[in-house]
Amino acid sequence: STLSSTPLRICVVGSGPAGFYTAEKLLKAHGSVDVDIIDRLPTPFGLVRSGVAPDHPETKIVINQFSRVAQNERCSFIGNVSVGSSITLPELREMYNGVVLAYGAESDRSLGIPGEELADIYAAREFVWWYNGHPDCRNLAPDLKSSDTAVILGQGNVALDVARILLRPTAELARTDIASHALAALEESTIRKVYLVGRRGPVQAACTAKELREILGIKDLVIHIKQADLVTTPADEIEMKNNRIRRRVYELLSKAVTAGHASVPGQRELHFVFFHKPDRFLESDDRSGRLGSVRLEKTTLKGDESMKQVAVGTGVYKDISCGLALKSIGYKSVAIDGLPFDNYKGIVPNLGGRVLANASLGDMQYETGLYVCGWLKRGPTGIIATNLYCAEETIACVSEDINKGVLSSKSVKPGRKGMLELLDSRNTRVVPFDAWEKIDLEEKRLGNLKNKPREKLATREELLKIAGK
Ligand code: FAD
Repeated sequence: STLSSTPLRICVVGSGPAGFYTAEKLLKAHGSVDVDIIDRLPTPFGLVRSGVAPDHPETKIVINQFSRVAQNERCSFIGNVSVGSSITLPELREMYNGVVLAYGAESDRSLGIPGEELADIYAAREFVWWYNGHPDCRNLAPDLKSSDTAVILGQGNVALDVARILLRPTAELARTDIASHALAALEESTIRKVYLVGRRGPVQAACTAKELREILGIKDLVIHIKQADLVTTPADEIEMKNNRIRRRVYELLSKAVTAGHASVPGQRELHFVFFHKPDRFLESDDRSGRLGSVRLEKTTLKGDESMKQVAVGTGVYKDISCGLALKSIGYKSVAIDGLPFDNYKGIVPNLGGRVLANASLGDMQYETGLYVCGWLKRGPTGIIATNLYCAEETIACVSEDINKGVLSSKSVKPGRKGMLELLDSRNTRVVPFDAWEKIDLEEKRLGNLKNKPREKLATREELLKIAGK
């Protein structure tokens, strides 16, 4: 080809929604751009595979759209390649005209309270990865048999997902693509009571109505909400007036209050605990290093500006005995390879998706050819579709730089070929999209035998074996 039609080579790091939307938009906007999507796992699709709950199959349909992107002749998926260990970011930037980082948020915020290191306490992220068959949490083995109570800290949609998986009849879960090790553990689970703890009140609960309605509707589940917690203040009323979702959530919670339940043995219970914050985790009486209970401090809301009410402690405490605690207080991104990183916000500092060379305030120097998208760019909030708008914004920057000639170089970049040679020299067993398709077929075949849409292979060894690597 002539020099003017030399393809630009762009590498997208991470194959979740942000990565795939980015690739899709790039391919559409530029006829002569090649896009490689790499992922540290042998499997694509990020949290669509390992985050979205197994009983939400409709949400995963977007995988079909992403697969068509991967099948585009100017695009390739290259799995089992971790940036920061298989290949460094400087190496990638050397080999491609541009790099879009979309590697998500794979760590957790911590509470920073005493006892957090005890056994039986997990980040919701780990528990979700465990039931969704993510290889990193295949061996998590949460103990669901030593107690009848689990405490979940947080009341957002992830907290509701986790509570639902713990409480839903396992016969219903058995028909989903839940990992078989998790289904087996849940079938033997003795957990009957789940507490969902929020610092603030029912007006501020961070979940959305659809997810709330779903958990409230679980068959034979008894819902506990204190009537007194539903009393609203003028500030609450303003908050609900300004935010339709908050009102819907509040209304659903109000309707779920029912008076006086007779306790039936074995019955499953969901307790909403409002106006309490975790103070410490206490060890069980046998001093085994295991969790015995969670101590909560009662809170009250301060500040009457709507949406700005904050929870402050009152010095009144109560303990909930439990054998499992799940912290659902937010995901956090991790920094790689000297990448500019805002430790406070847990994101890569950027302006509309262009990576800023320095996180410090007021410095508007860009890293040439380096972009960011998705949870790594905005922080860990928003649904799958949010990443589509996020990708549009990032791609607008990439396009502008392409059109200005910022990304072109005198020599042709080695791109995919160069990267594959380097990885080969390091004995990295890469998984291209057709190898993933073998995994996909095998998982569907195994699922079919059990009346499940898919039986996930949950170890790297199994995945690589089926991929033929
Ligand atoms: P991710 O989806 O996390 O993708 C990041 C990718 O980067 C992963 O594939 C990872 O393997 C890869 N990666 C990480 N580090 C590296 C590295 N060093 N090198 C190479 N690759 C790397 N949204 C909905 O719309 N509906 C839902 O029902 C829903 N449920 C959710 C449930 C949970 C538990 C969670 C956490 C989120 C849920 N979401 C849901 C939100 C949605 O999943 C996110 O908005 C979306 O996945 C974020 O996309 P992302 O591409 O930024 O990150």
